[in-house]
Amino acid sequence: MRALYPGSFDPLTLGHLDLIERGCSLFGEVVIAVLQNPGKSPTFSLDQRLEQITQATSHLQGVTVTSFNGLTVNCAREHHAQLILRGLRAMSDFEYELQIAHTNRSLDSEFETIFLSTAAHYSFLSSSVVKEVARFGGRVEHMVPSVVAEDLKRFFNSAL
Ligand code: ADP
Repeated sequence: MRALYPGSFDPLTLGHLDLIERGCSLFGEVVIAVLQNPGKSPTFSLDQRLEQITQATSHLQGVTVTSFNGLTVNCAREHHAQLILRGLRAMSDFEYELQIAHTNRSLDSEFETIFLSTAAHYSFLSSSVVKEVARFGGRVEHMVPSVVAEDLKRFFNSAL
């Protein structure tokens, strides 16, 4: 099966990567779809995020990296995915994730959303926490793939 894993990935964390690896073992194929949301102003450009993800997943078979605009279900259809993959870290994710899953099913009942619970040791990780730590010069090597750690350092050093 092919699962679509949509998200902002601004930037990719080891929590995301863990989900991708487990998604690959479960479903065989994972299409990582990076949201190009003109409403949000991301820290990393779309091209940077695509490059980070491509490098960080190069050891995995069955991964495709793409970008999308607009509705997730349209992206899932375009890529012939059968499932939408999302992650749950804590109860605080649940309400939001459930709302999106219901919305997507109301738009197209063909697609089921499958939730994987986060690896416990990555459950504190979010892209915004990582950026907050990096902004103040903290160590992020245990939170993000090395390519992202380097980009974070470069980004916050140049912002000084
Ligand atoms: P979005 O803006 O769509 O929420 P994110 O990049 O923040 O995009 O997250 C994409 C998906 O990955 C969401 O389902 C989120 O719950 C999940 N996720 C985020 N961080 C982690 C983590 N540390 N472990 C597992 N899943 C995570």
